Amino acid sequence: MSTRSTSSGDGRHTGTAGLVSLVERLRWTTALRLVVALLPVLAWVLLPLDRSAPWTSVAVPAVLYSLFLLAGNVLARTRESALALLGTGLILDGVYLGWMFRCLEGLDGPMGYVLVLHAMSITLLASFRTGVKLVLWHSLVLLVVLEADRVGLLGESVLRSSTTDYALQLVVMWGIVLSTALFAAANERELRRRRYDAEVLRRLALALESADSSTATALLLAHLAKGELLARRAAVVVLDTAEHVPAEEQRTGRAAAGTAVRGRGTAVVLGVDGSEHTQRFTTDLPARSLLVRAVVTHTTLLARAPHALHDAWLETLLPRAHNLVVVPFALEGQTAGALVMEHPGSRWGLRWLDAGRPPRVERRLLATAEQATAHVGQALGRIALVTRLRAAASTDGLTGLANRRAFDEALAAELAQAESPAGTFSVVLVDLDHFKVLNDTHGHLAGDDALRAVGRLLQRSLREGATAARYGGEEFVVLLPGTDREDAVAVAERLRRGIATTEDGPVPVTASLGVACFPADGTDALSLLATADAALYAAKQRGRNRVEDSAALHRADPVATAAPVEATAPRRRAASGRKR
Ligand code: GH3
Ligand code: MG
Ligand code: MG
Repeated sequence: MSTRSTSSGDGRHTGTAGLVSLVERLRWTTALRLVVALLPVLAWVLLPLDRSAPWTSVAVPAVLYSLFLLAGNVLARTRESALALLGTGLILDGVYLGWMFRCLEGLDGPMGYVLVLHAMSITLLASFRTGVKLVLWHSLVLLVVLEADRVGLLGESVLRSSTTDYALQLVVMWGIVLSTALFAAANERELRRRRYDAEVLRRLALALESADSSTATALLLAHLAKGELLARRAAVVVLDTAEHVPAEEQRTGRAAAGTAVRGRGTAVVLGVDGSEHTQRFTTDLPARSLLVRAVVTHTTLLARAPHALHDAWLETLLPRAHNLVVVPFALEGQTAGALVMEHPGSRWGLRWLDAGRPPRVERRLLATAEQATAHVGQALGRIALVTRLRAAASTDGLTGLANRRAFDEALAAELAQAESPAGTFSVVLVDLDHFKVLNDTHGHLAGDDALRAVGRLLQRSLREGATAARYGGEEFVVLLPGTDREDAVAVAERLRRGIATTEDGPVPVTASLGVACFPADGTDALSLLATADAALYAAKQRGRNRVEDSAALHRADPVATAAPVEATAPRRRAASGRKR
């Protein structure tokens, strides 16, 4: 495998073709035209020309024209005024140079060269189209001057060259301007491409703003690689966590040889036909794998093919890949990963021609890939942060269970879903018995440990879909979707037994539980929780370490009737029953 590295992705190596502002370019154009305007005067003074015409015929137009140019340069403050002045100025240029052409002996003098110089520099400085229009104007003026001179309109005829010479002058002028225009056009194409790349990156940045998951974000990058960066296939690997594999594990051979990093995350792959494939992964990555090297060194890597041993996992993502470009991203402590692109092989389809050499990928594409990947890295970092903040906002710090806020949301969602007549679900309130005594006897730290142990027990005792939350203090609540009264009481009984018998905690604890069912015990959150609370209260009254449901409230039982269901006061406590 051969690899080669490029710069670290700050885009500096790409260089920037000078995008000089229009106003500045127009100023340069004016300066150049000033030089061109003064050349005939210099020629008049310095060259051994026929000076039969009065010197004023050269000096007066030259001074007037130079003044016009200088005034224009001062006036052209805005883009529009500069453009208007250039337009009129170029028309006058043609007339002025045509006049000088006649004054300075036509093709026998220097003005043939000056005309070509003028047209060529305007083509370079203004634009390709301006250059072509200008040379057309010069040709026209020249023909008019020749004709006027021939018929004696300007006085005695002074131009001596043959028609063939004039035709040759025109051909040379056109030839030089057109070839200059062609070079300028190639240059402009490069500028246009850079502008296009900037536009591609702008669109990506906009799309990233509304991408709210790491998968959606990674897909945007993969599509950009395939759609704009000429990749045949693209994969984006996002590492949620990357831990160093313990040396012990490496020594005992439990990890693959040379494994450095155990990564977990998401990979999205775009196939040749544009098919999307997303997978969660947990994999061991050798220190010498392309992915690890690229991420660790913050360097784009190019490889003719993945290494059979080190890049085995990459090979599963992009089977039989060739010409790989690995562009990494990493945001300290938040996210890391890479864009992996497969580029089309040799232009002629001859792989053996390229064997052993790193793939050739245009610098411009690499620079765009690096910038796009950096944007995506930022976006993924932001998403990881928001996800972590959201999790923190809905998690109880002590037990790691959902907190009350998250429970209220889950209950509201369940109520919204369970509106159909057949829908049913249950709520179980769990309150630890005599917890104050536990705290007083064993200390608050032991109390905290006991709460954690109960949290773990709830977590592992419930099936998927159920939500266990810390409701506050030493109280927990469980939401059991799709569970009727009978099943909910059975679940609650199982939990009660589990709490009473677990040896996970520092000291034995028991709990009392109250069960309420939708819709029989209430059709809104408040009344359901009030019923569960009243049932819990009844359980406390009847000796603790037991489960009660709303049936207990309707029994002709002095204890149960002491705790009426009040939707407006769900947390009523009687001093005789549950201490606060
Ligand atoms: P009952 O059987 O009637 O429920 O009696 P109880 O002592 O459990 O009830 P009470 O409401 O009188 O006391 C609850 C105790 O729980 C008081 C409080 O110090 C303790 N507690 C609440 N939150 C925490 C916590 O986060 N950590 C610890 N260690 N104790 C807590
Ligand atoms: Mg309590
Ligand atoms: Mg209690």
